[in-house]
Amino acid sequence: MVITGISASPGVAIGKAFVYGNHKEVVIEKTKIDSVEKEIKKLEDAISKSREELSALREDTLKNLGEEKAQIFDAHLLLLDDPEIKKQVCSMITNDMVNSAYALDTVTKTFVSIFEAMDDAYMKERVADIKDVYSRVTRHILGIESVDLSRVDNGAIIVAHDLTPSETATLNKDAVLGFITNIGGKTSHSAIMARTMEVPAIVGLGNITEVVKNDDLLVFDGEQGQVYINPDQSILDEFQKIKTEQENRKQELSKFKGVESVTLDNHSVKLGGNIGHLKDMDSFEANDAEAVGLYRTEFLFMDKSQMPSEQEQYEIYSSIVKRLDNKECIFRTLDIGGDKNLDYLDIGHEENPFLGYRAIRICLDDKELFKAQLRAMLRTSTQGNIGIMFPMISSVNELLEAKSILEQAKQELIAQGISVGTYKVGMMIEIPSAAIMSDILANHVDFFSIGTNDLTQYTCAVDRMNEKVAHLYDPFNPGLLRLINMVAKNGLAKGVEVAMCGSMAHDPLLVPLFVGMGLTELSMSPMHVLTTRKLVRGLNFNECKKHVEKVLELGTSEQVKEYLKTV
Ligand code: PEP
Ligand code: MG
Repeated sequence: MVITGISASPGVAIGKAFVYGNHKEVVIEKTKIDSVEKEIKKLEDAISKSREELSALREDTLKNLGEEKAQIFDAHLLLLDDPEIKKQVCSMITNDMVNSAYALDTVTKTFVSIFEAMDDAYMKERVADIKDVYSRVTRHILGIESVDLSRVDNGAIIVAHDLTPSETATLNKDAVLGFITNIGGKTSHSAIMARTMEVPAIVGLGNITEVVKNDDLLVFDGEQGQVYINPDQSILDEFQKIKTEQENRKQELSKFKGVESVTLDNHSVKLGGNIGHLKDMDSFEANDAEAVGLYRTEFLFMDKSQMPSEQEQYEIYSSIVKRLDNKECIFRTLDIGGDKNLDYLDIGHEENPFLGYRAIRICLDDKELFKAQLRAMLRTSTQGNIGIMFPMISSVNELLEAKSILEQAKQELIAQGISVGTYKVGMMIEIPSAAIMSDILANHVDFFSIGTNDLTQYTCAVDRMNEKVAHLYDPFNPGLLRLINMVAKNGLAKGVEVAMCGSMAHDPLLVPLFVGMGLTELSMSPMHVLTTRKLVRGLNFNECKKHVEKVLELGTSEQVKEYLKTV
């Protein structure tokens, strides 16, 4: 059987299915017991198995992802030994003669509702931890194996409804061959993460979690977007061949490491890498990216179970800047909301989250949160070459307000005797009103970075997450290309650097156009840097400029695509 979805991250994966998410619903029944001792022993055994599991997870996380992520499990271990919860569960087992799973469920639900009613961010965060820890204990009492994505067997392909960016981050990329999901689009954040981690993926497959069973043999190429379930030998052979070809191509591309990204007529374009985590620096270095054109700092917040302090942020930002060894790092301030949420920051339910309370809108409201992040970034400015970039700016006023808070943060640091170095200030152009006002916005920044993932969805009115309208999410839409060209012209005319950091930046058909528009930097998932460098080195800048003129006269995306295929 073949099912078609949306290609999210290239590469062939051949392996056994691991269906994730079917394990979540645990039914807990109330039963009468004969022996209180036996039931309490069951509870204690489950707690000690959970303790072993959490300690092992802590160790693994420390080794693979660092101290900061490992601390989540310290908090879980502390909760597991909470004397009050255990006391209440034991007394319910003893007094009501009920099973331990039921007693535990009842007691933890009471704690959860008390904490939830407190309307305090710290307590809300404890709720998520309590649920997490005690559902682990419950699964042990009931003998249900718990699912932990970081410990999935070697050679598995994860099949899920969706994977949050944090779930994606916990995948062990050496063990997991790829993942496929029911929902999502090319630029949903799980797809972006898959590309950064170089894990093949297809998203938007509809009901793949219902069609595929555990251990089915799956074969897919993330570039083509089709999943074969239990295919015959001829299909397997065909994909094995594609896999070998891809590996050879990757090998061949390594000769483009360490060479300049320059056209035949000597026009340079910086090829940056987009990162979301410190560990993405491995792929950044392996693919010889020239700068971090976009550091999506919100992933650091999403990995945590509570708001990271200024110091915690500073330590991570600083490790990235130091590792870059004077290559530029563009820090994007918190871009939360849309499909990126924080369990511990309640922004309420929204009908249209991508049009709602998101990114700079949240930061301008919560100045303390914003300033703490800006201070952490500013503190790294003495250690390397940094830029600070605001996401989702829709007006000149928003930009000026964000800049004024940045200035306040700087002055506060200086008043405290903390030195601040030089840094660039820039903004994302990802909302049409900002693109249209880019001539005036250019007076207030050092650089623009065009976020085509959002600019496409807002210009074409197409939700980037919705697979039903994915065919309308069209990077070749001539209206979108005119808007991008307008931003390039307006920015360059004022001496502002104009970069692009959305996923269009590595599209092989569009790169000649962006080079011709004069974009100064194309920043992409590091895995695409070498292919793009090879492409740029075969282009002629003056010819690219002529292609821009021709393309901007075309009326349909089909015509644009046809034209660009001839370039
Ligand atoms: C974009 O919108 O193009 C972008 C780079 O930001 P994000 O994908 O994180 O929204
Ligand atoms: Mg965006």
